[in-house]
Amino acid sequence: MSNRHDDRSFAALDGVRFPEFEPGTVWLVGAGPGAPGLLTLLGYHALTRADAVVYDALVGTEILDWVPQGTILEYAGKRGGKPSAHQSDISTRLVELARAGKRVLRLKGGDPFMFGRGGEECQTLAAAGVAFRIVPGITAGIGGVGYVGIPVTHRDTNHSVLFLTGHDSSGTVPAGVNWSAVATAAPVLVMYMAVKNLPDIAARLIDGGRAPSDAVAIVSHATLPEQKVVESTLGGVGALAESGALTTPAIVVVGPTVSLRQDVGRYVERMGVGRVG
Ligand code: SAH
Repeated sequence: MSNRHDDRSFAALDGVRFPEFEPGTVWLVGAGPGAPGLLTLLGYHALTRADAVVYDALVGTEILDWVPQGTILEYAGKRGGKPSAHQSDISTRLVELARAGKRVLRLKGGDPFMFGRGGEECQTLAAAGVAFRIVPGITAGIGGVGYVGIPVTHRDTNHSVLFLTGHDSSGTVPAGVNWSAVATAAPVLVMYMAVKNLPDIAARLIDGGRAPSDAVAIVSHATLPEQKVVESTLGGVGALAESGALTTPAIVVVGPTVSLRQDVGRYVERMGVGRVG
């Protein structure tokens, strides 16, 4: 195969046939966990074509720097516990911008469909007859924890993994979760938005039959310069959360793959989270 690119610049993307970003449509784009390099090429392409970008709290600021001058840029963040835009207002705004003939890019942290309310926005768009496209993103609970050397699966330890959120729309531990079933359902649990309720969640998992000695890692600001990993056990993590030692946003991982970080993590960490090259 011949090398079609005589330099290493990003302009080589000009040759890629991306789907057309039609006026009057909405693209729901996952921005990844934060580091700009983890946005997909299709997401990057969309940023250069959009007329309006409506973004969430956890979208990396360096990614927002790529939004061209003249593009409408609106914040529609929702962060647990803080006053923020209502979901129905955000969805209505997307419809409004699309009906005004804009190419609307809805930029969400991680993947739009992983605890990202992407499904709700799609329902509103569909009900309003607005066409949309999903551009998946790297979710914090897989890519973010992978970044620090924790694989969510490993053939030696687990054939399943369970993703859950540590709080519902009211901010409390989700009532709909059967915690004793969750405790033993999968060797590895990956929890989003779980730091605030961690003492309660850890107690429920132990009550449900999970060993207090199980390894836990809390990965904060994954892939960003502030990235931090704290390791603990299920029995110890509640006190750690109460001490205020954990920073958010964070993913909490429970289970045997956390310990793999002892083998591989120090090599990963030697690379740091800063710029490569
Ligand atoms: N759609 C997102 C999740 C949104 S919910 C995704 O796919 O990643 C928000 C939660 O995601 C946060 O409370 C935190 O648990 C997690 N999160 C998002 N970005 C993160 C990051 N860079 N580091 C650690 N956790 C992160």
